[in-house]
Amino acid sequence: MATYLKELYCPKCNTTYDAYRPQNLCECGTPLLVRYDLERLAGEVTPQVWRKRPEGLWRYRELLPVIREENMLSLGEGGTPVYSLDKVAGEYGLKKLFLKDEGTNPTGTFKARGAAVGVGRAKELGLKTLAMPTAGNAGAAWAAYTSRAGIKMVVVMPEDAPLTTQAESVAYGADTYLVKGLISDAGKAVREACAKYGWFEVATLKEPYRIEGKKTMGLEIWEQFEGNLPDVVLYPTGGGVGIIGMWKAFNELKDMGWLKGPLPKMVAVQAEGCAPIVKAYKEGKDKAEFFQGAQTIAAGIRVPSALGDFLVLEAVRKSGGTALTVTDEEILSAWSHLAKTEGALICPEGAACVAATKKLRETGLVSSEESVLILNTGAGMKYTELLKEKAKLLETGSLVD
Ligand SMILES: *Cc1c(COP(=O)(O)O)cnc(C)c1O
Ligand SMILES: [Zn+2]
Repeated sequence: MATYLKELYCPKCNTTYDAYRPQNLCECGTPLLVRYDLERLAGEVTPQVWRKRPEGLWRYRELLPVIREENMLSLGEGGTPVYSLDKVAGEYGLKKLFLKDEGTNPTGTFKARGAAVGVGRAKELGLKTLAMPTAGNAGAAWAAYTSRAGIKMVVVMPEDAPLTTQAESVAYGADTYLVKGLISDAGKAVREACAKYGWFEVATLKEPYRIEGKKTMGLEIWEQFEGNLPDVVLYPTGGGVGIIGMWKAFNELKDMGWLKGPLPKMVAVQAEGCAPIVKAYKEGKDKAEFFQGAQTIAAGIRVPSALGDFLVLEAVRKSGGTALTVTDEEILSAWSHLAKTEGALICPEGAACVAATKKLRETGLVSSEESVLILNTGAGMKYTELLKEKAKLLETGSLVD
């Protein structure tokens, strides 16, 4: 296949790096991004070529970094549905409210997208052992795809990571470790082990290809909304890879001349108990500080410090979006409400975006005329402990007293 993969570049200091060798961060400590030859791509490929291929992430292969077909690992990732939430839209005074359901991905979250591409590229570059800290879902996804690729995987997660994700990681054969503390503590353990054993570190944004996989959410949104993109896109932001990726996708499509008109306003949603990026946004800063005492039931967004914080803030500001928090109570109530009114059992992170939509309407930051898309990043079924204990969605009782 023709490849349009050109180089890696640092979005801060503009240094470029060889994309055909394994790379972690820029020398200046910044995450590297992938650059393609977009001009040549736009001259040689058309959106119709993509549309004719089977649904799923690899239909966008020319805008992805994996070159050889045998490294395009697939368990059926991508091609996730978008459906409307009409009842909730009515309640919030919105004409159009949509949800893109990433819970239908392999391993039940959009992390499968990052893993399919990240592991595929790692295989292509000849890497043998990968290691990552995770809040849970990324570890499960990378464990699945490394199993498929025949690469060794080491996963380190907080001891209170959702039980399903711990079990998945073990089931797929990854060396799985639990640490006391947060994902940042898991990160420290992984850094030390990688330095000692020569493993390749694939923590969030420490390698440039995971974001390329997550970018395909943006490519799908562009395809699914066919020239009529939603005005507002809400994303539950932890490390921020998804929101950075979607913003990258929209801009690449724009640069290729395939996307006309305004881009969606990107909204970063965080939990009140862990909101480093929202805090930085409100204070007008372009970098976030470590968020002390991070706590929220939405494990996927319990990330006190993100390497790509400045890229999230840039996407939010350049797109005319915003950043806001919701409380755990609001998450639980939106979670239960959506299941009971729309038949959608989403994840708590996705529920945070539902709660945030309500707030944006109440404060008038989103008007009734604007169309809104919520990214539901994972399946509710991965969170059985929470469903039972906190959301009380699995109430037990006797049928007949
Ligand atoms: C990882 C994760 C997130 C946060 O994703 P980022 O792209 O790192 O911000 C949100 N929701 C779920 C379910 C996740 O697993
Ligand atoms: Zn740099």
